[in-house]
Amino acid sequence: VFSASQDFDFFYFVQQWPGSYCDTKQSCCYPITGKPASNFGIHGLWPNRNNGSYPSNCDSSNPFDASKISDLRSEMQSEWPTLSCPNNDGLTFWGHEWDKHGTCSESVLNQHDYFAKTLSLKDQINLLHALESAGIQPNGEKYSLSSIKSAIIGASGLTPWIQCNNDSSGNSQLYQIYLCVDSSASDFIECPVFPYGHCDSSIEFPSF
Ligand code: 5GP
Ligand code: 5GP
Ligand code: 5GP
Repeated sequence: VFSASQDFDFFYFVQQWPGSYCDTKQSCCYPITGKPASNFGIHGLWPNRNNGSYPSNCDSSNPFDASKISDLRSEMQSEWPTLSCPNNDGLTFWGHEWDKHGTCSESVLNQHDYFAKTLSLKDQINLLHALESAGIQPNGEKYSLSSIKSAIIGASGLTPWIQCNNDSSGNSQLYQIYLCVDSSASDFIECPVFPYGHCDSSIEFPSF
């Protein structure tokens, strides 16, 4: 059933490599709960349209309420850690993600389920394992963009989008991995449209 208020076609499920958030000119701060694991962390689950546009900040009357995700708190801290400064527990990051993106899918997922579904998506595909199994390790070496994409396609059957940023010396590096999910956030799908952005043909995978 297509709800009149559902103004999107699919989700981007976006994970970030912490080493690439932290080794930029801007640097980072660890959460007050401690340094996150050397693993991909969730950035967000973003409603998107097939034409590439996306809604944002859809319902200021339904702001983030930490009490609605108290049962998810410890899993959020390990799987969705914040790296922004100043050091904090992550509520600011999660609240930003709900207010900006989550409210645009509230006809499909309430606040609790938005976060619970996102955590379960991360559980379903282990990106770091997929890369390491193909010999692609977070050790500061460079790997071809095509080998990174092939490793993820091989492990998941899904074509990812790789977003790069630059380390403090200007090297192009693996920053975020986008996968696509159907509009009920139940199943991974092939992306209807990819984002924009440049990576060099060979990119660094920094340690963390
Ligand atoms: P950036 O410009 O750093 O890539 O993205 C800034 C912010 O814009 C992201 O954190 C996200 O909130 C939003 N954003 C960027 N690209 C997309 C997109 O393709 N789809 C959606 N839904 N949001 C995006
Ligand atoms: P977006 O708007 O791109 O979905 O989310 C980016 C916002 O979340 C920015 O305001 C950024 O400061 C904040 N933020 C907090 N923690 C993190 C983090 O660990 N990674 C990223 N990319 N943004 C974070
Ligand atoms: P192709 O369609 O031949 O794979 O790629 C066309 C162009 O898009 C090439 O310049 C390639 O580097 C770029 N490209 C392909 N996949 C990705 C990706 O996942 N991320 C980014 N940033 N660029 C990509």
